[in-house]
Amino acid sequence: MEIINTIAALKLLLEPIKQAHQKIAIVPTMGALHKGHVSLIAAAKQLADLVVCSVFVNPTQFTDPKDLEKYPRPLAHDIKMLEEAGCNVVFMPSVREMYPQPENWHIDLGAVEFLLEGEFRKGHYQGVTQIVKKLFDAVNPDLAFFGQKDFQQVLMIKKMVDHFQLPVKVVSCPIIREIDGLAMSSRNINLTAQDRQNALVLSKALEYVKSHFKEKNIESLLENATAMLKGTAGVELDYFTIANGETLLPEYDKNAGNLVALVAAKVGETRLIDNMLLD
Ligand code: AMP
Repeated sequence: MEIINTIAALKLLLEPIKQAHQKIAIVPTMGALHKGHVSLIAAAKQLADLVVCSVFVNPTQFTDPKDLEKYPRPLAHDIKMLEEAGCNVVFMPSVREMYPQPENWHIDLGAVEFLLEGEFRKGHYQGVTQIVKKLFDAVNPDLAFFGQKDFQQVLMIKKMVDHFQLPVKVVSCPIIREIDGLAMSSRNINLTAQDRQNALVLSKALEYVKSHFKEKNIESLLENATAMLKGTAGVELDYFTIANGETLLPEYDKNAGNLVALVAAKVGETRLIDNMLLD
């Protein structure tokens, strides 16, 4: 496994692969890797000849400086995980490498940018699309793998790819969960033992909606799921919604199709998100 820190070295390494018409996949991450990330690498290995995984905590997508500061960065653990996952190239640039000078970035991501996560983390998706565009420029990938865990992020990346008409296929992969249902996340490491227990209510509320979807109407599903979350001490709900999977607008017609339940909540000091497809 090659570990690369600069865009120039990365381009040099990938040039002959591209010339030979081999398929290159990128798996962008912010490190603190877990089995969710590993599943993306495994999916990428199935479809590509060479897998590049980037590990970069991108400052422009953080809206809270404290959140950026406390983001875990277990470098040795990450390298070991990547090696074991069969990753071919790790790209670990510095902030200076990715942002050599101050820059303005703004693209039209449509109305979805401002909903849900976009409402609670203003400017977040401008930062996300900014760094992913830079990573795509550096790697020139054929395929890019993202997790459904960040459901809205996948929509925003697809929008950015359309905006620049990039020749990249965006692949969304299923959410990997702990045995008890908690969606794996780099942020779970910050949960206290009590938070960890309380955090289960997110996946439980989603499971409740999914398992009662046939017999109850959307209003009562929302009411009961919200009550579960609000009734759990140490959990501060940002949103729980049942929405159209494209527009992310609330949907009250059970037969509308393409429905997804999405939740975000602060558990102790840690903000978590999760979602579940309903049909
Ligand atoms: P992050 O390092 O949190 O930015 O995540 C990097 C990629 O891994 C994103 O595409 C995430 O959606 C994906 N990811 C994070 N957690 C999971 C999970 N539990 N299951 C599947 N993919 C995940």
